[in-house]
Amino acid sequence: MKTKLKKIEAIIRQEMDSTGAQELLLPALQPLELWHKSGRDDLMGEVMIRFNDRRGRQICLGPTHEEVITELVRESVSSYKQLPLILYQIQTKFRDELRPRFGVVRSCEFIMKDAYSFDRDQAGLDKNYQAMFEAYKRILTRCGLRFLSIQADPGVMGGSESAEFMVPGESGEDVVWYCKNCGFAKGLTEEGLSSKQIPCPSCKGKMEPLNTIEVGHVFKLGTKYSQALGGRFLDEHGNLQPMVMGCYGIGVSRLVAAVIEQNNDKEGIIWPKEISPYKAVITVLDVTDKENLDAANSLYESLKKERVEVLLDDRDERAGVKFKDADLIGIYLQIIVGKASGAKGGLELRLRSSKEKIFVKKEEALKKIKELLVV
Ligand code: ATP
Ligand code: MG
Repeated sequence: MKTKLKKIEAIIRQEMDSTGAQELLLPALQPLELWHKSGRDDLMGEVMIRFNDRRGRQICLGPTHEEVITELVRESVSSYKQLPLILYQIQTKFRDELRPRFGVVRSCEFIMKDAYSFDRDQAGLDKNYQAMFEAYKRILTRCGLRFLSIQADPGVMGGSESAEFMVPGESGEDVVWYCKNCGFAKGLTEEGLSSKQIPCPSCKGKMEPLNTIEVGHVFKLGTKYSQALGGRFLDEHGNLQPMVMGCYGIGVSRLVAAVIEQNNDKEGIIWPKEISPYKAVITVLDVTDKENLDAANSLYESLKKERVEVLLDDRDERAGVKFKDADLIGIYLQIIVGKASGAKGGLELRLRSSKEKIFVKKEEALKKIKELLVV
């Protein structure tokens, strides 16, 4: 069984790889000197964790990796023939946040997927930015999320254009103005603005504030870092040019929280199919009933052979307790083996999301379960 975190990482890897991006792993320990060169040492302020090593060199724990990746690419790319290039990693970031909250939503150590694109020119960057934007939409959709994207302020990253991917959720800290009518969204936070005062360009609808969680951020960086750190290449005419860069982050650990925030009911979590830590749980209603226990065991073995991630609840507990637990941990599909359905020569399947009950004959169970679990 892969944890939900690993499942989200797997989705991200697939979608990054499908754009042609290449995975690497950068050091978390970074020389502060690189941050002096980019001019961001001061800008990062208290958020960046700094210390000296035994030789007295100034080190920081990477809050992000624009400096380090630019240094790496500077050393290994010299010609236009090696471009374009998209590199990404899934790694722990460190930020001494002023207000850490809600566990993994805002923590001082968290997992991020960060990607960086390197191009010869603006047209190349525009293309890669678009490809990343589309990949982000696919990632969030596969994670079972409703989301919106808004134009954002590039802030401390610098650069020209940037967009944030926001997941509506009650606990979200970022207020976005949103039009239910046409879906237009804007990241306005100025106080005192009433919804009527904000024009919605594409329709006559009223904009309303919506609490959201930022899960992803894409930036067109341009040449800010390549200029500062010497990330240049020789173009086809033999001229030295700065690489045109973009950077693209997704909060992997924060995504887990966002998925739960949007997929739950009063009974517990409702894991979307692709993320459910186990895809199915076999609940044996009465373990003292030898016939049903044997049937459940044999189904469990068959499903494992088919590489279905399945859990067997053969605890000697009341049926109600087992149902409650299965609902609470939110496994996508519940397979119920009990007297009533057993007498009819079958089993009951229950989808956590819709509570829909499906009766299947024993000999068709395996096929039907696999059908329900296909993504
Ligand atoms: P925020 O505005 O929430 O502080 P940010 O804009 O500083 O985030 P980015 O630098 O854009 O964050 O990082 C990319 C992604 O990493 C964010 O979209 C978010 O999902 C995630 N992230 C950022 N900071 C944290 C944190 N402290 N804990 C967990 N996830 C984080
Ligand atoms: Mg951001």
